[in-house]
Amino acid sequence: MAHCVVPEAEAILDREFKVLDKGFIRLVDYLGGDARIVQAARVSYGEGTKSYREDAGLIDYLMRHEHTSPFEQVALSFHVKLPIFVARQWIRHRTARVNEISGRYSIMKDEFYLPADADVAAQSEDNKQGRAEEPMEAAEAAKIRNLLDKGQRAAYEDYSSLVEEGLARELARINLPLSLYTEWYWQIDLHNLFRFLSLRLDPHAQKEIRLYARTMLEITRAVAPAATESFERNILHGVRFNGAEMAELKRRLGVAGKGAPTEATAGMAKAGNAVPGKAPEQGQEPLLKGKALERFEEKLRSGKQI
Ligand SMILES: Cc1cc2nc3c(=O)[nH]c(=O)nc-3n(C[C@H](O)[C@H](O)[C@H](O)COP(=O)(O)OP(=O)(O)OC[C@H]3O[C@@H](n4cnc5c(N)ncnc54)[C@H](O)[C@@H]3O)c2cc1C
Repeated sequence: MAHCVVPEAEAILDREFKVLDKGFIRLVDYLGGDARIVQAARVSYGEGTKSYREDAGLIDYLMRHEHTSPFEQVALSFHVKLPIFVARQWIRHRTARVNEISGRYSIMKDEFYLPADADVAAQSEDNKQGRAEEPMEAAEAAKIRNLLDKGQRAAYEDYSSLVEEGLARELARINLPLSLYTEWYWQIDLHNLFRFLSLRLDPHAQKEIRLYARTMLEITRAVAPAATESFERNILHGVRFNGAEMAELKRRLGVAGKGAPTEATAGMAKAGNAVPGKAPEQGQEPLLKGKALERFEEKLRSGKQI
């Protein structure tokens, strides 16, 4: 198979998917799809392409066992328009190839991100890096949006005047705010795209970049549906348990088996508590204590990595 053509991906090539108030993501091109992952993996095993079910099973096996290199054989190129503060978070993903609009060469457009009323929220009290879940009162949100808008207008007017006066564009731009939109071409292989998506779809990531990640997930699904489904099942919606947590999980489920002894579980038997790997007896205390127990319970409740 010389060239993979994926009809679902062909159908969305060049289409702009809107994100935020003025941003978008566009799939410019793609190389390979599920078939390419299977084809690359079967080089290792020396077998030809099988049925869709068997291929999806192989992809899932590769994902579960972190046999990642076949996923690197697939690449996606995106054209993204995004505010600079989102771009600063995004650019930390170093394995992509990027080409951004030059503010030294071009006149920057008068386009700024203004959060919708529902996205204007106070500083979160329990998360120093985030905002409260509840938006502010409508009147307060409108006041803040006006203030942001005023600052953006003033910054762009100054920028335009400086350019008109003949100041170099590379200097005229330096007072423009982080809410200004920029654009780039961003190309990445599927393995590293999944890494980007797992970090940026996480509720800990800022809402604005999460919205881009969500759109990108759907575009990725069009290119490689079986791989995307496997990523969602095994990584995005999966949770990791450490050794002590596994021991506690086994204790609760009454599953016997070899529990690797860990610092957290050592001495439990002596203290009369449950023993990892042995069915629990009535009235036994949990193996985990304090914050470790809280984190474990929260993982079970929310299904999120903590
Ligand atoms: C919710 C959230 C909050 C964050 N807060 C902050 C913050 O406050 N301050 C801050 O500075 N950053 C912050 N970051 C950025 C974060 O620390 C990472 O830089 C970013 O998520 C990119 O992750 P990465 O390095 O795994 O990704 P990539 O750069 O895409 O790399 C993928 C993987 O490739 C390997 N790799 C890539 N390049 C190299 C290299 N040169 N050397 C060795 N291994 C490499 C690593 O294994 C890496 O995990 C935050 C990220 C998130 C998701």
